[in-house]
Amino acid sequence: MKNKAYILLGWLLVATPMATYAQSVGQAVMEGLASITLSDQQVAQLSRQAVQQMDTQNPVAGPSDPYTQRLNRIVRRHRTVSGIPINYKVYKVKDVNAFATADGSVRVFQGLMDIMSDSELLAIMGHEIGHVVNKDTRDAMKSALRRSAFINLGASQGGAIGALSRSQATALANGLYSASFSRRQETEADDYSYTFLRKNGYNVLALASSFEKLAKLSGGSGGGRVAEIVSSHPDSQKRAQRIRDRARRDGVRR
Ligand SMILES: [Zn+2]
Repeated sequence: MKNKAYILLGWLLVATPMATYAQSVGQAVMEGLASITLSDQQVAQLSRQAVQQMDTQNPVAGPSDPYTQRLNRIVRRHRTVSGIPINYKVYKVKDVNAFATADGSVRVFQGLMDIMSDSELLAIMGHEIGHVVNKDTRDAMKSALRRSAFINLGASQGGAIGALSRSQATALANGLYSASFSRRQETEADDYSYTFLRKNGYNVLALASSFEKLAKLSGGSGGGRVAEIVSSHPDSQKRAQRIRDRARRDGVRR
């Protein structure tokens, strides 16, 4: 029985000297890691710390900001989704992006809100929340931990994990931010969003039209990053068509 969990953080992604250090730690560490089990609760706790660090690094819209008020209106009925409490915030940056983390944090960027209708935003958030419900975000966190350098967080098996240092949380946040999902995970998150929209009486075709908008953007050079939902795979048009086909089969007109 292990008393201590040795946990890898995202140093490799941010600091070359640390990468050199990490390489020198070598194979033994990597083998040791394979035997470590992190509970979902521990992963959620690390994710929360990473997202809190991201919140300090990005301009978060305040409670009276029109973007926050619009987002709050859109998600009013969806503070808990599939039993998971979700906390939402807007980052006032131009990137066309949104993401969710394993603790149920959803972050939506101003650039995305500027180009999407309310129902399209909800469709995209439904997709991101789908990654949380399907545990894709948990697995991404675990792989961000595995990819990275070696630190001892002094965590007991199943117990609480100590607070990350600021640089550790930053490194982990960067690792999460650059995570991408497989094609299968994307399809399943699309399906989750479709079902979420339909169950709640929204227009399922908003999912398709949001992809079509993003497809146009990723074809051009818009400047900032393009949303997670299209960053890993360039086939947004096909995904949109798949949603439209499904809606037709389901007899859904909106
Ligand atoms: Zn996705």
